[in-house]
Amino acid sequence: MKTTKQTILLSGASIAGLTMAYWMSRYGYEVTVVEIGAEPRRGGSPIDVRGEALDCASRMGILDAIKEAKLPTEGLKFMNAQNEVQGIMLVEEIGAIRPGDDIEIRRDDLVDILYKNVRDGITYKFNNRITALDQDAEKVTATFKDGTTGTYDFVIGADGIHSGVRKLVFGQEDQFTHFLNYYFSVFAVDGRLGEKNYAHMYNTPNTMATVYFYNTDSADAVLAFRSSHKITYNRYDIQEQKQLVSDAFEGIGWKVPQLIEELKQADNFYLDQGCQIKMPTWTKGRVALIGDAGYAPAFPTGMGSTLAIQGATVLADAMAQNEDYNRAFKLYHETFRPVVETLQATVYDGMSFILPETQEKIDERNKSGRETN
Ligand SMILES: Cc1cc2nc3c(=O)[nH]c(=O)nc-3n(C[C@H](O)[C@H](O)[C@H](O)COP(=O)(O)OP(=O)(O)OC[C@H]3O[C@@H](n4cnc5c(N)ncnc54)[C@H](O)[C@@H]3O)c2cc1C
Repeated sequence: MKTTKQTILLSGASIAGLTMAYWMSRYGYEVTVVEIGAEPRRGGSPIDVRGEALDCASRMGILDAIKEAKLPTEGLKFMNAQNEVQGIMLVEEIGAIRPGDDIEIRRDDLVDILYKNVRDGITYKFNNRITALDQDAEKVTATFKDGTTGTYDFVIGADGIHSGVRKLVFGQEDQFTHFLNYYFSVFAVDGRLGEKNYAHMYNTPNTMATVYFYNTDSADAVLAFRSSHKITYNRYDIQEQKQLVSDAFEGIGWKVPQLIEELKQADNFYLDQGCQIKMPTWTKGRVALIGDAGYAPAFPTGMGSTLAIQGATVLADAMAQNEDYNRAFKLYHETFRPVVETLQATVYDGMSFILPETQEKIDERNKSGRETN
């Protein structure tokens, strides 16, 4: 039995990575986190922490902080081009689509809460990333972008949809990416474009514009659109991406022209393709994947953060309970794969809801909400 502390390198300081950092530190590991950004990555629209992820949060001692940051959203209003309400869905009705408790929180707040919980005793390498991984039966050696190297007992990829660890250890991204024929962008906008306590959604066939308001002076906008084909763009060229979204929303009414003006100024703009990550295995040797890196469920499921918290906790618990990591990794698969597969299968319902393809389907969806008086 080893007497020195086991070491673990986590790639990605977001929901999955920070959750895993908490658990592995608590289970006595020496934890290093490498993050490509200068700090944990911010941005994004409200996200839901649901069901079992709330139990994990409770075990981590952060449930009260999450409850305190709960957004006061009362519901979602479906709007028409004249900014008239066509139907309303209350939060309870949206939540009822999935069983279990649900707390809606800003993505930034969740990242901050997790980060605050794991600041001490952990080595962070910001503005850095893994460029090579070499493993044998005993250890994994990582080379970093800054030229340094390190040797660890385990390496965990928690680095999102475009995971660097996945690419280095499991192979090219396109083998595992299932494109869902839509793109979505998120950026902060002037709070006056929203309405206190409500999200507003406006659709035309195959496009969706939503403004989430937080009772502060800022709101978040999501612009999403379906695309029959993959669009080639530079992931690091924000101007090109902003143009791509502006073009997709050209000539669309409601508040879209104002949102596009805001988009041009936004410094936290985020765009990605809608996709799921599906892999036959999430582990290879001493390397494992968690969160979006291994099993991104996609935005319309509303379950990305929940799966990330839950998956990291399942893997950490399995490693704490089994000295033999092969058994731990096996348990991780056995316990978590059914959860992931069931959830991923629900994505098309979510897509029909947020991105109806015809005006008839938009009208039908709007009428499924409560009538306005
Ligand atoms: C900026 C941003 C905005 C988002 N907005 C939304 C949203 O509005 N709605 C929604 O449902 N989901 C959104 N997501 C996705 C959501 O955060 C995830 O689905 C979910 O929380 C799972 O989290 P994760 O930790 O697995 O992945 P992510 O939250 O994607 O985190 C991955 C982390 O890894 C880092 N990283 C990436 N590549 C490397 C690398 N090579 N080396 C080191 N670090 C790396 C990233 O900077 C990031 O910190 C967003 C993600 C990001 C990054």
